[in-house]
Amino acid sequence: MSELPAIDADYLLKFLVDLLNTPSPTGFAGKAIDAVDRAMQEFSFLSSTRTRKGALVTTWEGKNSDAPRGLTAHADTLGAMVKEIKPNGRLKLTRIGGYAWNTVEGEGCTVFSTRGKELRGSILLTKASGHVHGSKVNELKRDDDNMEVRLDARTVDADQTRDLGIQVGDFVAFDPRVEMTNGFIRSRHLDDKACIACILAAIKAMHAAGKEPAQRITFHISNYEEVGHGAASGFPNDLAELVTVDMAAIGDGQTSDEFHATLCVKDSGGPYHHGLNQKMRQLADEYKIPYKVDIYPYYGSDGEAFWRAGGDVAVSLIGPGVDASHNYERTHIDSLLATTQWIMAYLLN
Ligand SMILES: [Zn+2]
Repeated sequence: MSELPAIDADYLLKFLVDLLNTPSPTGFAGKAIDAVDRAMQEFSFLSSTRTRKGALVTTWEGKNSDAPRGLTAHADTLGAMVKEIKPNGRLKLTRIGGYAWNTVEGEGCTVFSTRGKELRGSILLTKASGHVHGSKVNELKRDDDNMEVRLDARTVDADQTRDLGIQVGDFVAFDPRVEMTNGFIRSRHLDDKACIACILAAIKAMHAAGKEPAQRITFHISNYEEVGHGAASGFPNDLAELVTVDMAAIGDGQTSDEFHATLCVKDSGGPYHHGLNQKMRQLADEYKIPYKVDIYPYYGSDGEAFWRAGGDVAVSLIGPGVDASHNYERTHIDSLLATTQWIMAYLLN
């Protein structure tokens, strides 16, 4: 059995918690991209640039460049935008990314005004009080019309809310509520910040062990994944392979869990590249990395975004198991360590 460099789990988790606490709904992910850029800059052998769309592209030259590789993970998350300022001063929202309203009902949120102000509030049903609305609190459909933001500011009409600086189009981020217990990490938006933390932990571990990638590697940290076109562009023209690192979906009928990494062989976009999948399985076997193989029923990835945009490369998808995805998510450190090991095995061979 081959040995992989030791992973600094404290570094992985500290970076992850900081990134989870950096709001980054799609379209407003700049602060999270900046945070990843700063972390990459800690390693002098990496060179970074931004795409015009705002993604971070970081290169590690490695030993060869006859079959250059890519690894992509996304820094943007689910979120919302102010759709209307209602006559009662509350905010109607439009969703960014694919999720059901009940998954954020009662959650705290921050509204980012275009003038730079941040206002706090919460996502509530329009008929929220059980003492006033009785059974309607159960029965009302959770849709755009029946959900609103209650701002923590004195406003009872639209003019007062406008006076707070809020406008249509302001971004809204949901509180991540990060908590770590018994090796579990519970938070919104582990998708896909957990995988960025794994990539950085892999870079740190390899560097500490004096190891270099076998091929030039492009780390692509995308900022529009949740709306389907994140990694459609931004790779070098000679790219040969792309491994997408994104969460595995756990639930009834799934093999994925919070203690393994998963190789996804098919999702809504169809099968991934069989040859590269075989290579990823062989690496996991060789290094005794705990992994599962799974199929995700309602799922798309940045690897597919690149394929759809015309990318002529082999594409695979690996990642840590995330329970209650696009909801109040949870994973375990074992899953993150397995994913980090798999990234290193891929880079080294
Ligand atoms: Zn994702």
